[in-house]
Amino acid sequence: MSSNIRITRICQFCSQEFTAKTTKTKFCSLKCSSKNYKLITRHNIVDVSNKETEGIRLLDFEAVKKRDYLSINNCVQFFGISRRTLYRMITRNDVETVKLGRRKFVSTKSIEALFVINEPVDVKPAQEPQIIDLNECCTITQAQAFYGISQTGLYFLIKKHSIRKFTSGKFTYVQRKDLDIYLKSIDHE
Ligand SMILES: [Zn+2]
Repeated sequence: MSSNIRITRICQFCSQEFTAKTTKTKFCSLKCSSKNYKLITRHNIVDVSNKETEGIRLLDFEAVKKRDYLSINNCVQFFGISRRTLYRMITRNDVETVKLGRRKFVSTKSIEALFVINEPVDVKPAQEPQIIDLNECCTITQAQAFYGISQTGLYFLIKKHSIRKFTSGKFTYVQRKDLDIYLKSIDHE
């Protein structure tokens, strides 16, 4: 594979610009890729990024998970990693593979294990009526940066947990304490 190609892309998880080595790379780092995967499994999102990517067929995660082995293509699409990263993982025996004919398949469990991060406890938000202080809130854009979550992921979370949104001027706000229940702020490296 040519290493002369340098493509500037936006990480589909943290929205930061990064230099991609292939046109298929969607995340700036394995960390973002992991966080994205965690979100997909936790909220059963089919695939946030694939929906936005032309020509890539949607993968039903529930169906995929039931398979013991995944094709190289499925791994690349589903975990949002580059082929190169995947082959590196295979070479290092980070994942288990089987060979069927000339094609290699990756054990679902073994690759999944690499992407699962310790899960926070799911706590329900308090529903008591309250006075909203905008200083305790953040805009959708701020929340994305602060928690390292994609816009799609954030809206999904808001919808799923009925997190209240407020509009002031032209901005939409959410309370940080509502998001803190589900998200951890990222350390900005
Ligand atoms: Zn990123």
